[in-house]
Amino acid sequence: MRILVCNDDGITAPGLRALVEVAQEFGEVIVVAPDKPQSGMGHAISIGVPLRLYPSREFGDIPAWACSGTPADCVKLATGVLGEKPDLLLSGINHGANFSISVFYSGTLSAAIEGAFEGIPSLGISLLDYSREADFTAAQAIVRELILLVQAHPFPAHVPLNVNIPKLPLSEIKGIRLTRQAKGRFVEQFEERIDPYGQPYYWMVGRFESQDAGPDTDLWALERGYVSVCPLKIDLTAYEQLNHWAVLER
Ligand code: MN
Repeated sequence: MRILVCNDDGITAPGLRALVEVAQEFGEVIVVAPDKPQSGMGHAISIGVPLRLYPSREFGDIPAWACSGTPADCVKLATGVLGEKPDLLLSGINHGANFSISVFYSGTLSAAIEGAFEGIPSLGISLLDYSREADFTAAQAIVRELILLVQAHPFPAHVPLNVNIPKLPLSEIKGIRLTRQAKGRFVEQFEERIDPYGQPYYWMVGRFESQDAGPDTDLWALERGYVSVCPLKIDLTAYEQLNHWAVLER
């Protein structure tokens, strides 16, 4: 099996290293990751600036490239420039959660979604620990389990999986649940500070507010010590609204 490993925290992130270590056990690995942190970039792509790929020795003998673009760019360059046709794409392990509407902001998931666009079975994986020193050992065991699971029971290639892993020792993780995206929103606060030139700047801090008490959501599972696996749809069409207007022809 050929496995493409990407992330959004950048090529030096410990979470990427943790994921590469597990991927190696399952086949040939190639890494294409941003050369700097790209969290919160969503599905951005670079169209007005050149893209560069630098060979990296970050993982010893494993072929790796640092990319000057976004996570989605990384996948595009891996397939379009390096000619990769991976059997599996793993993105992460992200330092921090990506449940509910985070899908829209997440660079980790954009790489997985881009993989799904290309017909590659893809997993975006996040650990609920923002720390750079986060312990990824339990998450690695879960990823190992998940790769075996998706090999035994594959999802359609156009269905990327949003995996979130609670910040718990492996012995306290209760299991793996298929979930739906919890309804909710981020309530943002903006801290205003003054830069050295006397101009104000703003630092955005957000907290997630759930609007969903459902027992089958990603949030519900994570709060109770389960790994959440949410299969995603690429088609965002609100099909139930397609009859909202009568046909307007002229
Ligand atoms: Mn990130």
